[in-house]
Amino acid sequence: MLEFGQAKMRRLNPDALKGRLLLGNFLPEELEELIQQWGYERYRAIQLLHGYYAERKTDIESITTLPKVFRHRCAATFITLPLQLVSQQRSSDGTTKMLFSLLDGSRIESVLIPREMSQGRSRRTLCVSSQAGCPLGCVFCATASLKLQRNLEAAEIIAQVFAAEQVTGERITNVVFMGMGEPLLNYEAVLRAIRLMTWGKEPLVPLRHITLSTAGIVPAIERLAMEGIPVKLALSLHATTDTLRRQLMPIARRWSLEETLEAMDKYYRATRRPITYEYILFDTLNDTPADLQRLIKIARRVPSKVNIIPFHPIDFTHPQGIGAQLRPTPRQRMEQFVQSLRQAGIPTMVRSSSGVDIAAACGQLALVTI
Ligand code: SF4
Repeated sequence: MLEFGQAKMRRLNPDALKGRLLLGNFLPEELEELIQQWGYERYRAIQLLHGYYAERKTDIESITTLPKVFRHRCAATFITLPLQLVSQQRSSDGTTKMLFSLLDGSRIESVLIPREMSQGRSRRTLCVSSQAGCPLGCVFCATASLKLQRNLEAAEIIAQVFAAEQVTGERITNVVFMGMGEPLLNYEAVLRAIRLMTWGKEPLVPLRHITLSTAGIVPAIERLAMEGIPVKLALSLHATTDTLRRQLMPIARRWSLEETLEAMDKYYRATRRPITYEYILFDTLNDTPADLQRLIKIARRVPSKVNIIPFHPIDFTHPQGIGAQLRPTPRQRMEQFVQSLRQAGIPTMVRSSSGVDIAAACGQLALVTI
């Protein structure tokens, strides 16, 4: 069984960098220190970061507030975009799935989901990956078939935002850590990426627009509660009993449902941010009246909302086994389930199936083109 903190913490192979540094790995204070060692004043580091994060200038030579010689040195030292677009697919609903190659050849996917809101506003949510592959083996998830290749660097997480903006020509407004990987098993890099994305007066993405979704790494949830970075936290719940949750999500054999929920309660008490419970509805497995009552009880522990997620087939990666046998709850029963939650006073959303036709929907990311 995988222990927290013992995930294979493989990092980007230094050979892939060829002596250069990833700008997106540097916290402001670290960059200031480096720049001072070069003999420049600290504020030059801030100017560089402002050009990079606020103005989205991934070509350092175009940050003309910097003196020319300093600019050349930075451009020669730093890699600003440590990934390359390999391919992109656009769904009939506007969702775009992007396949990226990292410097060492590892591959990851990100998904951009555009939404028109009321009063002419629009939201463009990027679902980012935090690991290449994933070690957790949830039976309903296509990414699990890849196993863990390695953890991403903070710079590689941030670069997905830059690259998505360059590919689509539009600003990303929201980021969700729901792509490949379990973000809390890559804790340091994910936290660093969040600190950097939210840095400054004109952040790449505001903190209130960032959601981190976890399968339930209890010590990491408790640690996150104390960081003073109150991101929106979502738990992949998917079952209301230990027995079923352990069948669906092997990580649930490590921490019981009660231990996991207590960690979520602590997170709420420390941050005052309502909890989101993600719940994929599987036909006859977790959609019974008893499940409904247990789910209501869970969602009433602290202010919470429930995201109901229609199950998306993953038979393209799981032709056999439990994953291939899972079936979505029929539409009508799903609507009744949602209605009952709402009647019980639980704020409930139904997550759309954006991108399902290109295998870009929730749980479908597996570097597969369909
Ligand atoms: S659902 Fe998330 S944690 Fe589970 S295998 Fe897929 S990517 Fe990993």
